[in-house]
Amino acid sequence: MIHYKSGREIERMAIAGEMVAQTFQQIAPLVVAGTSTQEIDDAVRDMVQALGGKPLFLGYNGFPAHCCISVNDEVVHGIPGPRVLVESDLVSVDIGIEMEGFCGDSARTFLIGEADELTRQVLSVCRAALAAGIAGAYPGNTLVGLIGAIEAVIRESRLGLVENFVGHGIGRNMHEEPQVPNFVSPVLQRNDLELRSGLVLAIEPMVNSGTGAVRTLDDGWTVVTADGGVSAHCEHSVAITDDGPRVLTLGPGECWPPVSGTPGQ
Ligand code: MG
Ligand code: MG
Repeated sequence: MIHYKSGREIERMAIAGEMVAQTFQQIAPLVVAGTSTQEIDDAVRDMVQALGGKPLFLGYNGFPAHCCISVNDEVVHGIPGPRVLVESDLVSVDIGIEMEGFCGDSARTFLIGEADELTRQVLSVCRAALAAGIAGAYPGNTLVGLIGAIEAVIRESRLGLVENFVGHGIGRNMHEEPQVPNFVSPVLQRNDLELRSGLVLAIEPMVNSGTGAVRTLDDGWTVVTADGGVSAHCEHSVAITDDGPRVLTLGPGECWPPVSGTPGQ
């Protein structure tokens, strides 16, 4: 069952969402060559604690860290650890926080220094796909319409669209109905719904440099590209309101759509 949020509930979700964004702002200076992914996770832990929230991923089905960090060929669900970041790494960080009963979920992908054209394209297409999905988050559109806009951006790029993982409704629980895949399937068409004010979605395209095929490593978590290509993952929690899409996972000084080169992407 889909739970539509009241205006008051959306305001409370915006508090959780802003905390996620503030955590990104805190860790952004650390996502540089020479930092270990463990150090970034420690910073996420400290920031979430300082803000008074609860990290949603720690202990989720046994996940052992406070955020997911997925580098280069890692698509999603990477486990922070001793790996030290280097120049040209493409680093996706996914953070979820619960605050006073409501959840915020967002992922941002960082490129460290210079990288080849293909890597830069993966990141820009992923961001454009997220932006297209958010632009479709208005009352009267349909879920197929929103998702079709995401899919069109990725298909037109000829990069790999990851089909195995989906976005989701979000609210008191991190994962609520409906599922929000990044491509339109017959199943989705059969279960299409009109978007209504109060629906809150975590929209999260994943884009690979090669094919969209993925596999999971023996750690049971880390999802990597099947062909070894690089991958990006961008996510925002977005409320559908009478005034259009409202991105909840934005922090101080951030706006949507983002000004190029600024945080919030
Ligand atoms: Mg997430
Ligand atoms: Mg999510």
